[in-house]
Amino acid sequence: LAPAPALSLDHRFARELPEMAVAWQADEAPEPQLLALNEPLAAELGLDPAALRTPEGLQLLVGTAVPAGATPVAQGYAGHQFGGFVPRLGDGRALLLGELTDADGRLRDLHLKGSGRTPFARGGDGLAAVGPMLREYVISEAMHALGIPTTRSLAVVSTGRAVRRETLLPGAVLARVASSHLRVGSFQYARVSGEPELLRRLADHAISRHHPEGAQAEDPYLALFAAVVTAQAELVARWMQVGFVHGVMNTDNMTISGETIDYGPCAFLEAHDPATVYSSIDTGGRYAYGNQPIVAEWDLARLAEAMLPLFAEEQERAIELAVEALGRFRPQYDAAWSAGMRAKLGLPDGLEDAVAAPLVEEFLALLQAGHVDHTSAFRLLGAAARGDVDPVRNLFLDLATFDAWAERWRALAPDADGMDRVNPVYVPRNHLVEEALSAATAGDLAPLGPLLDAVTHPYTERPDLARYAAPAPADFGATYQTFCGT
Ligand code: AMP
Ligand code: MG
Ligand code: MG
Repeated sequence: LAPAPALSLDHRFARELPEMAVAWQADEAPEPQLLALNEPLAAELGLDPAALRTPEGLQLLVGTAVPAGATPVAQGYAGHQFGGFVPRLGDGRALLLGELTDADGRLRDLHLKGSGRTPFARGGDGLAAVGPMLREYVISEAMHALGIPTTRSLAVVSTGRAVRRETLLPGAVLARVASSHLRVGSFQYARVSGEPELLRRLADHAISRHHPEGAQAEDPYLALFAAVVTAQAELVARWMQVGFVHGVMNTDNMTISGETIDYGPCAFLEAHDPATVYSSIDTGGRYAYGNQPIVAEWDLARLAEAMLPLFAEEQERAIELAVEALGRFRPQYDAAWSAGMRAKLGLPDGLEDAVAAPLVEEFLALLQAGHVDHTSAFRLLGAAARGDVDPVRNLFLDLATFDAWAERWRALAPDADGMDRVNPVYVPRNHLVEEALSAATAGDLAPLGPLLDAVTHPYTERPDLARYAAPAPADFGATYQTFCGT
């Protein structure tokens, strides 16, 4: 394992795409203090956790001391924000330190968020508060433990600098790891640059980092687009199955790799309802839970538009190819969704769709009608499959409909053990996340530990963590809102 300052970083993004990278430095952090360190991830990256805890290690994690020869950059990207195109967004408060090769030989971006203003900052202060950075840490690590592709969180370090929001809050930097930070918005940025050669170079970079098999395809660029469609269809199906609401699915927040990125106003469903919105700025419900597949397809259409010149010389032909490739989103999403839902209900392999689909639909309708907690309902169904029906039954209002449904379902001998492997006991529940973040903001890290413990081992029930499995008290849930960009 390498001591932190000796870390060896590559700069492939900056070298291959200099038009999209601005060399920049992190702000000073007067008093860096480690709030969270992901030791398993550090080991995966070949980093020595003990070295990261030293003063030199903390300097690396806030960006004020970079390895010799390293050149951090702010990345340029564009994006559709709530449907409106912004040609120049970019890392306003983040830096790519460089890429490192992990223990499995894979290239991983090491990136900092909250490290100060960059030339892309526009009106922003370039900073981040302790609460939102810990929030990203907790939720991204929970997603990873659930088996959902995501950027990872290596560490959160408070800076000793105050950040002005509604009040003064302690500032922090998140060290984030991703298989890359290429986004749909990166392609939009290259496209609006008007340099066809830059767009091609970006696509080649993306193919080599994420979909190398595409390089052998008859049309590598179309193959790249198709691979992103597949990755996103599978990703969003996973979100829907665990009740994850991303909250800000702008095209700058959709990756080319298929990893979940940008944990701003995201939250997990409690009462199952497709109309659920948590983000305070999503007043129109554009990014509501139930809209996520439609929005993903819309974002991918924007990617297709950006890539159009790569598909064919003749525009009409390029559009034809793009439409055909985009047309695969729906069937791939539907297949991923129904396979996942069948597993959540423990349905036997090979069960015909005419039986499986209505069982899924009717169960979801029951959840919605009864305002039933999404996570508890699926998990308790596992017990019901073993014969202990009352705990799940008691969650519903319309018992007659539930009983009729359960009789049909139990007649299929659902696989309880399989269900327990896909239906988590623990997701980061909003009231518990808020509890841990407000304590941390006030200097008390105690509640963070058990929360992280629960959500990073989501399928293993532990009696001592029972409160992490329970829905929010009645006075919390209904008005809960999340705030982005803080
Ligand atoms: P997001 O909503 O997190 O996807 O961010 C959208 C854009 O706003 C990106 O270009 C961010 O870099 C930028 N941004 C968000 N917060 C800040 C901030 N506090 N200072 C500077 N830029 C920011
Ligand atoms: Mg973003
Ligand atoms: Mg954000």
